[in-house]
Amino acid sequence: MNIALIAHDKKKNDIIELAKKYKDVLAQHELYATGTTGTLIMGETGLVINRMKSGPLGGDQQIGAMIAEGKLDVLIFFCDNLITQGHQQDVGALTRLASLYNIAFATNRTTADMIITSTLF
Ligand code: PGA
Repeated sequence: MNIALIAHDKKKNDIIELAKKYKDVLAQHELYATGTTGTLIMGETGLVINRMKSGPLGGDQQIGAMIAEGKLDVLIFFCDNLITQGHQQDVGALTRLASLYNIAFATNRTTADMIITSTLF
């Protein structure tokens, strides 16, 4: 499957923890991430990740385009819901497309665990 991993700055530790926990299963899939999230996960886990631009510089939109083109199966997107992002419109556009195209879509750790354990093994 094609899986995208994205986390806002306050949530990056959470997504790194997730990637460490499921490293072996994630390694069996094609992974994508926004720039900084991807760099951090690769550094911490050694997973191979296709890195897009950083989210604020268009990475969210690149992932959104993948969804619109039917090229993404799973989106794990840990948002910081306590602040408004400079690229909040991109965040809204990406979550809208994930919903519209009915892909597996997690915005928190519980749902990410459920998707990974029920779908990716
Ligand atoms: P980043 O982007 O991984 O480049 O920090 C995340 C985002 O804010 O969408």
